[in-house]
Amino acid sequence: MAAPFSSSVLRARFPLLPPTLEVDHLVVGGGVIGLAIAERLVKRFPNRSTYLVEKHDAVGQETSSRNSEVIHAGLYYPPDSLKTRFCIRGRKLLYERCERMSIPFRKTGKLILATQSKQQILYVGRLFMHTQHHLVNVPSWLLTGPEAREMEPKISEDISTAVYSPETGIVDSHALMRSLEKEIGESEAGEIVLGTRVVRIDQQPSSSPTNPGGWLVQTLTSGEEKPDCILAKSLILTAGLTSAPLLNPLLPPLDPEIISPTYAKGTYFSYKGPGVAGIQKLLYPCPEEGMVGLGTHMTMDLEGKVKFGPDVEWIGEAGEAERDPEFWTKHLGPSEGRLEEMAEAVREYLPDVRASGFAPDYAGIRPNISPPNAPNPDFKIIHSHPSLPNLVALVGMGSPGLTSALAIGEGMERFFSKVIWKEGEDGLEAPEEDDPRDGREWWEIKRPWWRVW
Ligand SMILES: Cc1cc2nc3c(=O)[nH]c(=O)nc-3n(C[C@H](O)[C@H](O)[C@H](O)COP(=O)(O)OP(=O)(O)OC[C@H]3O[C@@H](n4cnc5c(N)ncnc54)[C@H](O)[C@@H]3O)c2cc1C
Repeated sequence: MAAPFSSSVLRARFPLLPPTLEVDHLVVGGGVIGLAIAERLVKRFPNRSTYLVEKHDAVGQETSSRNSEVIHAGLYYPPDSLKTRFCIRGRKLLYERCERMSIPFRKTGKLILATQSKQQILYVGRLFMHTQHHLVNVPSWLLTGPEAREMEPKISEDISTAVYSPETGIVDSHALMRSLEKEIGESEAGEIVLGTRVVRIDQQPSSSPTNPGGWLVQTLTSGEEKPDCILAKSLILTAGLTSAPLLNPLLPPLDPEIISPTYAKGTYFSYKGPGVAGIQKLLYPCPEEGMVGLGTHMTMDLEGKVKFGPDVEWIGEAGEAERDPEFWTKHLGPSEGRLEEMAEAVREYLPDVRASGFAPDYAGIRPNISPPNAPNPDFKIIHSHPSLPNLVALVGMGSPGLTSALAIGEGMERFFSKVIWKEGEDGLEAPEEDDPRDGREWWEIKRPWWRVW
């Protein structure tokens, strides 16, 4: 397998080749979002070929299997954002899919807890008002401290108020991805190619009306010396932490869409010890202002194993991602040194937990696209760029990307039907009355991705 070098090193190493295969849709990346997109494309377009290439020997080995596995209700994000739209719709599609396909899940509910701090009390009040006034289909209750303790008696006496979200849950993300992989693999039009890394992308301009051009995508398969080249009529970059490094060299110099990614690691600790027995709901503190992430929360998996995390640890030196787009693979082990700090953060809402019960478990890396300590930006989906015909790139697909994946797949089905192949709306599911899609398509939303509220 090729070592992950910068794009210029890869271009020198892999000269341009003629294509040996032509496909209609090429999806780069077999995380939950790439799989959800490919699953929709194979169903909608049985007469067009859809290839998904994944560099690992199995799907979902990166961020999609290194997260909290929480089905988010969609409480936190601004009204006119892609995160709100895809999270609320994605949550509905996800619960339906879990029921229909026996994917393990549980609607646990969740409490967002404020201590006596004025800032936290204001935060919880504002979050509740936001769900009531700005969001469709996101039920929530505002609780007093005693009401919250009635629900979960182990939480601290110091908790003064809370928002309860009954629609939050947990899902077996591996079973979800296996179900998508199976459907793509069993379709006539779809193929998943594992152990195959995209090493170079070039635009092939249209030479005549019968040759509309496309994207020359070179791939290197594990164990092979020589790359292959695919001509893709359309290209979907959904490569998670390496989406931006794949996209940037395709954009003209100084293009405003060039993204400098920043990487924020989050460590999880498993917990066995006092202070958590019988807890049924997910417990979240108030997020710190200006921080990525939702604060060090308590979740459990479907077997009831309790875990705390993720914290926020910025990784990488200036320019490191440009030199080596996969430098972050050196940081995938949990950061044990964060244990005391994390235990202290957790004791703010669960006072009886003990640091001795924490054990380092795993870590995930957020594919962040805003500068460190800037507020969370929106998802960024680049489409219809004048220099990038028939190319869609998804960057900064952090939380709630797992919850949103099925809605993003649905949104791509609509985009390819209406905009790329110009086949119109026939057969597309009409938005329901309580649907966050509000009559506009996702690509018609003009809210800048970096604008926060
Ligand atoms: C700490 C943490 C906690 C989170 N918690 C939650 C949560 O509780 N709920 C929620 O909804 N969301 C959560 N998220 C977000 C969610 O995990 C992500 O949004 C989602 O997994 C992103 O999926 P993806 O398919 O875009 O990326 P990935 O899972 O990273 O998949 C990208 C794929 O592309 C492949 N790839 C990359 N480069 C190449 C190449 N050159 N050639 C071929 N293949 C390539 C990779 O191998 C990888 O498999 C969390 C994220 C983090 C980091």
